Amino acid sequence: MLIGHGWDLHQHSKDEKLILGGVKFDEDGFTGHSDGDILLHALCDGLLGATGKKDLGYYFPSDDSTPKNIPSTEILSEVLNIIEYQNLKLINLDITIVTQKFNVQEKADKIQENLSNLLNVSKDMLNIKGKSSDDYGLIGDEKASLAIVSLLIEDA
Ligand SMILES: [Zn+2]
Repeated sequence: MLIGHGWDLHQHSKDEKLILGGVKFDEDGFTGHSDGDILLHALCDGLLGATGKKDLGYYFPSDDSTPKNIPSTEILSEVLNIIEYQNLKLINLDITIVTQKFNVQEKADKIQENLSNLLNVSKDMLNIKGKSSDDYGLIGDEKASLAIVSLLIEDA
């Protein structure tokens, strides 16, 4: 069994729509070279970490070698190729979103649905938790939000 861990933080932007777990929502999103999907970026790092395949920045650096505004669903699909996901079985995916900018639980169902399709696993394997930072710091000031992912996979 392999354990993976990943996290990602992006700054909020009024000029971008929120995309989280590959789902687009009609509210403020994140700045970023890509679409700024903190959840999928954290997930990708967790998958790469579990399988010993370096990190997301190695394959998709935030510069011109990565296409500007690339959808993070495309990044995830490339990561699934890199780790040979078809030979693995995802057992558990535990996600925490630390934010005071939006309500996580209102979005959790849609995101879980989308992740279960992207990863080809049952929704029961996924859990999404929302947390605040008690009004403190970058997150409490609604300047940034953080995604933390833990996962467990094994050979199929
Ligand atoms: Zn990111």
